[in-house]
Amino acid sequence: MPTPNQSESQRAGLCAACRHADVVTSSRGAMFYRCRRSETDPRFPKYPALPVLMCRGYEARDPA
Ligand code: SF4
Repeated sequence: MPTPNQSESQRAGLCAACRHADVVTSSRGAMFYRCRRSETDPRFPKYPALPVLMCRGYEARDPA
């Protein structure tokens, strides 16, 4: 996944740069973030409400 630009980081917060996030695009073109941590830990929502400003599961993606 490419490095998020600044506006995407403002819109999505931590999820935009988190290694546990998958970007999902709807048929209408809306972009969501799916949290893969939700698959193993029910404390994390599958589709977090954006922007996520604080998250104990956040881990930065490796720079590409
Ligand atoms: S762990 Fe937190 S920051 Fe990372 S994708 Fe899930 S909700 Fe977003």
